[in-house]
Order: sequence, then C-alpha cells, then structure tokens
Amino acid sequence: MAQKIVAGNWKMNKNLSEAKALAEDIKSKLSSYDTNGVQLIVSPNYMVVPAVKEILDGSGVETSAQNIHQEESGAFTGEVSGEMLSSCGVKYAIVGHSERRTFYNEDSKIVAAKVKKAIEKGITPIYCCGEVKEERESGKHFEVVGGQISSELFDLSEADFNKVVIAYEPVWAIGTGLTASPDQAQEIHAFIRSEIAKKYGDSLASNTSILYGGSCKPGNAKEIFANPDVDGGLIGGASLNADDFLQIAASF
Ligand code: PEP
Repeated sequence: MAQKIVAGNWKMNKNLSEAKALAEDIKSKLSSYDTNGVQLIVSPNYMVVPAVKEILDGSGVETSAQNIHQEESGAFTGEVSGEMLSSCGVKYAIVGHSERRTFYNEDSKIVAAKVKKAIEKGITPIYCCGEVKEERESGKHFEVVGGQISSELFDLSEADFNKVVIAYEPVWAIGTGLTASPDQAQEIHAFIRSEIAKKYGDSLASNTSILYGGSCKPGNAKEIFANPDVDGGLIGGASLNADDFLQIAASF
C-alpha cells in the first residue's frame, strides 16, 4: 500500500516570522484533526527551512525544500545543493514543479538529474509531472505524462524508484481555481500506476505514492482523495492556512 501524503508547497510566500507562525499554528492544531496514517509535509522557502524544521521536529510533520540543484557543489551562484539540504536534515525536495519548468527552463534532462541527485543525498524527491491546457484539450495528456515519467524517472534502478513520490499536477489547474474532476484524476493516476507497473512490476507500482495537485482545497479534497489511485495531494494556495491544510490532510 502506498503511503498517504499531504504536502504543502508554500512557494515564494512567508517571511521568517510568518513562516514560523504558520509552522506553530500547524503544530498546535494538529491534534484537532484526524490525520492518522497521513504523512504531512510542508515546503517553505529555503531561507526558513531550518527554522520551520526546528518548530516541527517531533510533531511528525516533515519539512521539504521546494527545489534542489543537480550538481554536487561549486560555481552555481544562488543555488542550494542536495548536500546542503541533507546537512540541515531535510528529507524531501519538490522536483520538476511546473513553475520551475516554465520560469527557470528546467527541461527533462535537468529534472532527471535533480531526481537522481536528491536520491543520492538521501532526500525523497516529490517529483511533479502534468500536462498544460492545450495538451489536455487535444487529448494528449496520457502521452505527455507518460513521456515525462519515462524520460525523467525510468532510468532509475528499482531500489531508487522506490524512493520517489509522484505528484500529478495538471498545469491548467495550478493556482487557477480549476481542478481535475475526481474521474479525471483517477484516470490519469491509474495510468501513471500502470506505466510504473509495466516498468517495475505491480508491487512497486502499488507502493508508489501518487499525489494530486492543482487547486486542491478543503471543499474538494475528500472526493479527489476517495479515488483508489490518489494517495494524497500537493497543495499550494490552501497550504498557507493551517486549518485548510490540516482539513485537507484529514480528508481521507
Ligand atoms: C502547486 O503549486 O503545487 C499547487 C498545487 O498549487 P495550488 O494548490 O495553489 O493550485
């Protein structure tokens, strides 16, 4: 059985005091929500990762980075390496988010290298894939997502693939208020799982957590998470509020 996961992507929001306040809020409200069996993760900006991690340590909520650099170290001004993240005790990093692919030209080669570097450093990549609106409208979403996972993940050994969390995030649903319908989510999650099964076998496929991301909120999480192939969510906007985030995590 795949681990259920609800991960919040805080993006470029929350300065130090705001991030600490949000982490404290999540920690203090955690016991008011039934999130049993769900791994909660928050992804603040790099600057505040250690401070947020310190607050959440021991609560069961893990702290993730929003990115990781694919090289080991050196002259990459402005970047943060996997080694630096592990030295801060970070266990997860979002890789291949559509905003990074779009605004920072992260192509398949870079995304695949980041996935590998994260695993090498003992960090679980929360690997994002998903089609844009035109691809969905022209019925190419299976082809696009299938191509992404095969070119960016399927070079991994079975042991390494086992360490990956996948987030299916239709780009047209991110931050737009549009959401994939529960049927649309189930259909493509099942497709992703079947592609994994073809490559790595049924057991690894059923153990892989496949999250849904794209305008997931307290009002729609339950019906999305009710699908057999949806193992949780990667949550943007709604993760900036502790109650909304926890209510989503309590929606299984
Ligand atoms: C995201 O950026 O990963 C995301 C899912 O954002 P939102 O929930 O705001 O659509």
